[in-house]
Amino acid sequence: MSVYRRWFCSCSGKPEELIYDQVLEEEVPGEPVCERCGAGPSSDPKRTISFRDEEEFNE
Ligand SMILES: [Zn+2]
Repeated sequence: MSVYRRWFCSCSGKPEELIYDQVLEEEVPGEPVCERCGAGPSSDPKRTISFRDEEEFNE
């Protein structure tokens, strides 16, 4: 079981999921960036970024 973190940006008025690669080739974890407004977890001037952790069950 692992946890998958889903990111959302609500700049368009409703939360839209940000798609990104969680693991890149480098050791630096990938960071989602909103294609619409450019906000991300470390740059969120309008406080539109949110996330939800979902448990992923491996069968
Ligand atoms: Zn946005």
